[in-house]
Amino acid sequence: MDERLRDDFQRCFDGLAAIGRDPAGGWTRLAWTAEDRAARDWFGAEARARGLEVEQDPAGNLWAWWRPTGGAEEGAAGAVAVGSHLDTVPGGGAYDGALGVVAGLVAVAELARREVTPLRPVAVVAFADEEGGRFGLPTFGSRVLAGTLDPATVLDRADQAGTTLAAALRDAGLDPAAVGPDPERLAGLAAFVELHVEQGRGLAGHGVPVGLASAIWPHGRWRLTLTGAADHAGTTRLQDRRDPMLGLAAAILAARAAAEELGAVATVGRALVRPNSTNSVPGQVLAWLDARAERDQTLDWLLAAFQAAVEEAAGRHGLTVELSGESRSPAVDFDAGLRGRLAACLRDRGVEPVELPTAAGHDAGVLAASLPAAMLFVRNPTGTSHSPAERAELDDCVAGVEALAAVVEELACR
Ligand SMILES: [Zn+2]
Repeated sequence: MDERLRDDFQRCFDGLAAIGRDPAGGWTRLAWTAEDRAARDWFGAEARARGLEVEQDPAGNLWAWWRPTGGAEEGAAGAVAVGSHLDTVPGGGAYDGALGVVAGLVAVAELARREVTPLRPVAVVAFADEEGGRFGLPTFGSRVLAGTLDPATVLDRADQAGTTLAAALRDAGLDPAAVGPDPERLAGLAAFVELHVEQGRGLAGHGVPVGLASAIWPHGRWRLTLTGAADHAGTTRLQDRRDPMLGLAAAILAARAAAEELGAVATVGRALVRPNSTNSVPGQVLAWLDARAERDQTLDWLLAAFQAAVEEAAGRHGLTVELSGESRSPAVDFDAGLRGRLAACLRDRGVEPVELPTAAGHDAGVLAASLPAAMLFVRNPTGTSHSPAERAELDDCVAGVEALAAVVEELACR
């Protein structure tokens, strides 16, 4: 194994991992916060140190360009982009997003060191607010870039501290009114390849360090508001209560039952209780459902079963229910031609190409609607993700960087 590449990867990865350490555990780099800004500054510095030219697009995504010299082919051929995201979920792991950005920077620098020259422009991209951990808008940067999310419709969304997206963008130095799509930039891209830590144990079972994504399951997020009546926990008789927490309990169990029945996954991972007082019957509960399934229709069935169960429980407990969609992403099948070229790159490196679907959303999934996109996964021995325990072996990460370098060479340098 190439020690130089290994050292460069480790140093670069450690630099980003030093940003946003959460005292409560793991990493917290929410979009447009001081931690996010520090990560974006880190990206700019790392890219410039590698001779790349850094710019920000109108959606707030960062692009570090490695351009052909001589200019003969420049402009004639579409660019090849690689990359991922710098933000994390609250208390997330070190690899999700970070691995793909670091791998992109290291892979491009490695090709340059080997005196490989690009015939097409190559970009390492850091997409903005991929996780949606602050405003509930996952893949914000790629969706705004692609024109599938109109920022004007969400600028008044507030985070848990009450800060609106518009204010957060302004704090980060962006003009909210100028945030928008960039069809010209998109049209100039021939391919996008996102390397990502695997978020399951699919590759561990195949004994390969790197694999390919075949598809992304359709997924969505819904907000549930259950309203009852706040009252005294001691003096209010059980039969007189309108306790929304009972509705939430039924909702959580219904989500689980529907997911089991349909072979899908559903999670209630966030709830707000009002007034959140030990000796009060709550007056209102807000909760968020995240659901994913292999097919769009299955997701519809899951949501219908969930809604019916929640309404039934609400009727029993005297509650009012409001269920509203916050985001939904359709199924994505990654480009077959591009997947084939990536598979050949892996085979050339002695890695049997294993293809796996994923139930996680990614910027590559958003861009797949506009241009050929694909993903490389790096093996995750435990499968844990969105947790401080998320992990990938150094050797596997380096194998991922080498595979990505081979892909960039194949797509942009031949
Ligand atoms: Zn990610």
